[in-house]
Amino acid sequence: MFDELKEECGLIGISLKKSSPEFIKNLYLGLFSLQHRGQESCGIAYTLDNKIKLLIRQGLVSGNFFKSLPLDVSTTSGIGHVRYSTCGESNLVNAQPFIFNCNKGTLAIAHNGNIPNVEIIKDQLIQSGSIFQTTSDSEVLVHLLARIPGNNFKDSIISALNQLKGAYSMLVLHEDSVIAFRDQFGFRPLCYGKIDNGYIFASETNALDIMGAEYIADVEPGEIIFCKNGEIEKQRFAISNKVTQCIFELIYFARPDSYVFGESVHEVRQKMGVKLAKARMCDPDIVIAVPDSGTSAALGFAREAGIPYEIGLIRNHYTGRTFIKPGQNIREESVKIKLNPVKSIIKGKKLAVIDDSLVRGTTSSKIVKLLKSAGAKEVHLFLSSPGITHSCFFGIDTPTRKELLSANHSPEEIAKIIGADSVTFLSIEDLKQCVKNPDKFCFACFTGEYPIPVIENDDIVIKSKQ
Ligand code: SF4
Repeated sequence: MFDELKEECGLIGISLKKSSPEFIKNLYLGLFSLQHRGQESCGIAYTLDNKIKLLIRQGLVSGNFFKSLPLDVSTTSGIGHVRYSTCGESNLVNAQPFIFNCNKGTLAIAHNGNIPNVEIIKDQLIQSGSIFQTTSDSEVLVHLLARIPGNNFKDSIISALNQLKGAYSMLVLHEDSVIAFRDQFGFRPLCYGKIDNGYIFASETNALDIMGAEYIADVEPGEIIFCKNGEIEKQRFAISNKVTQCIFELIYFARPDSYVFGESVHEVRQKMGVKLAKARMCDPDIVIAVPDSGTSAALGFAREAGIPYEIGLIRNHYTGRTFIKPGQNIREESVKIKLNPVKSIIKGKKLAVIDDSLVRGTTSSKIVKLLKSAGAKEVHLFLSSPGITHSCFFGIDTPTRKELLSANHSPEEIAKIIGADSVTFLSIEDLKQCVKNPDKFCFACFTGEYPIPVIENDDIVIKSKQ
């Protein structure tokens, strides 16, 4: 089922001209700055003495993983990955990077995204003799690669990529080359920057910042970049007629200090808050954010509405992100321990509470309860995204439509269900006005207009905008 294939991950890759004794430390720093993109497992793969070495661990980058890093290794090429699992599979079998041996050599692969047609391709490969070791989409690429005749690695990988249609940003380590590519639709982000001695590839620009790299560009949709000895070579493996970048990266996933898809995440979120303030039908005393992803929008809201912004909720940063914890029970416990209200700010006030999105409503109802029990007079919840009415099939963990509150209830009904005085969603029209090129984004979880055909789990329908 597609549920098992969904993931949201962070990628880092470094390719240098000369060996650096700081290499592993920098790979670690890059991964550390992408920790928000996945907290279940992490790993690195790097070349040493013509071999690929792998280190993967469950848990946070700063945990046991850091303690086991070979910080004295000096090398030129490596990739790293942070991952979270969505179906309770917090085991090392699916931790990345993956290492594969095939007739094209040894490869390490780090992957962010989801390939909706992967099961069809996999079935065909199994029928013709392939044996799969993991449940990851990345392995399909290796099987496709292995079947391409000849030994030209560049031509083979381009040919294999032409057979994959989906949402993938990937980094591949092959001998001492780092290879970066993004699917032709550009669903998931991937950018690169320059340092004195080479290039850095990362899911978000904040990972470039930590290494002092200068941002150059995003890897274009349908582009592949081969990087070796501090030199890059760019090629197109697919023509990109339609770009559909995931709007949720800007709403929730990316860090506000990052640029993603050429947009400042913080600025886009502030604009969302401005739009919400313009649409408000209530008269709150103060604006508070659900930290951290609601903070930028709350600032925009407060400025536009001329209402004071206050810190009304304190987040414990050591519990992980609610949305990306596996299993409902863990999620419910996480909410309880994650946020604590500042009673002196909240007591007796009418609150505009700004959050990024509402999925099942579990988190929102607990936040409303927390605020009311801290003495809030009214709680008006504002979401800096439209109601999520459809599941995502392109790498983001969303429940089936049956579980999505907005798929089945109006904002008024949702307010009653979660105990809020009102609930306001950002309209899809307003959301589109917050980005420079709305035609280059996917909004399918709000509209059901999927840019490529998908099979819905609960009612088996194939839908596509094209
Ligand atoms: S369906 Fe939603 S979450 Fe999935 S890629 Fe499109 S915008 Fe992103």
